[in-house]
Amino acid sequence: MKKHSNRLCGVVAAALLAIPAAVVAADEAKGPEPFVPSGSNAFMYPGEPVAEDEMRVTIFGSGYGYVRTDQADQSIFVELGNGDAFVFDLGEGSEANYMEMQVPYSRMTNLFITHLHTDHYGSLPHMYTFGPSADRWTPLNIYGPSGPTPELGTKYMVEGLKQFTNWHVVSFNGIAVPESDGYDINVVEFDYTLNPGIAYEKDGVVIKHFPVAHSIDGGIAYRLDWNDLCVVIAADTRPTRFYYENSQDCDIVMHEVGPAPSVFAETMGVTEERANSMIASSHTLPVAVGKLFELTKPRLAVATHILANANTVLPTVDGIRTYYDGPLAIARDFMVFNVTKDNITQRIGVGSGSPWVHTEAHRDGEPKYRDDQLTSDFILDSVIPPCKEAKDDKCY
Ligand SMILES: [Zn+2]
Ligand SMILES: [Zn+2]
Repeated sequence: MKKHSNRLCGVVAAALLAIPAAVVAADEAKGPEPFVPSGSNAFMYPGEPVAEDEMRVTIFGSGYGYVRTDQADQSIFVELGNGDAFVFDLGEGSEANYMEMQVPYSRMTNLFITHLHTDHYGSLPHMYTFGPSADRWTPLNIYGPSGPTPELGTKYMVEGLKQFTNWHVVSFNGIAVPESDGYDINVVEFDYTLNPGIAYEKDGVVIKHFPVAHSIDGGIAYRLDWNDLCVVIAADTRPTRFYYENSQDCDIVMHEVGPAPSVFAETMGVTEERANSMIASSHTLPVAVGKLFELTKPRLAVATHILANANTVLPTVDGIRTYYDGPLAIARDFMVFNVTKDNITQRIGVGSGSPWVHTEAHRDGEPKYRDDQLTSDFILDSVIPPCKEAKDDKCY
């Protein structure tokens, strides 16, 4: 990986200070502009392919807990030039953002969960149940941590997911939609204590996991390496040595950031001292995020898991800048990073706002439906038929 240059630091600082993009990026006419989210080539539209040697990282959920129309709960989508795609967390509301950028369900088959707070997997029941009605006809692969007891692990959550969605699955698979393996789930649960452990290794892609310090045991963060490119995926955590150790020599290091205590205190009506201890017990204060970024020196640092308002972003940047003066992005939904060995660009994905589900996978042969029927005769008898099939005038 290549360390960032002072020129890029200047560009980033300028972007954060809202100096017009045209002034700082005049020499970047070809391709997306580095770290300047404005200008004619700073947008990505649905359907853009990933170049062969490139990693593309899209933030489909930058917030947490309190879902907003402009911020879903955490989800990060990593696509590689070899065609692979990985979903990291699928927080509530984030599925709509995948649809907005026309990501088909068939590209959302590998889900890696950092921990089992629902702001990290709240969209899973819907994605699981509606995927096979579009183009995901293969099993869903869910990767996630074990817990301190079996009932606190990913496998147990998936058993509950199956119960929670059972009526939907029975009424869809082979009845409302063609029968397929899309409702099968492969669960891969790894030992959360390993530092690091291997979560996935295939076709040159290595995804490692390592423990985080967040509420109780059973949370992990991920690091993906491919083609000499690397991204560390944010997870909820206090600042830890594990995070620092596993973020070395990585192109993009993402880290969660708790709100500045003064803002949290004002918004939630608690004292600043109380706010400080609430955040520090499970999350990372901006100043500590800055220290971690300074220790790891990524080509691009991304702070996420933040409710981004004018009164939260500026104190957060201030806190991070206490220690770190390198390239920095404060995440927002649809932020896209294209990463190659030579360049990292930042853009914003733009869709139509009213997408139809996009499908890419195609099925051979006739679609199969079950011939048993689970609708009672008294209900079927109440259905108003077309007039050509009707026995009386109650028809259309
Ligand atoms: Zn969270
Ligand atoms: Zn959490």
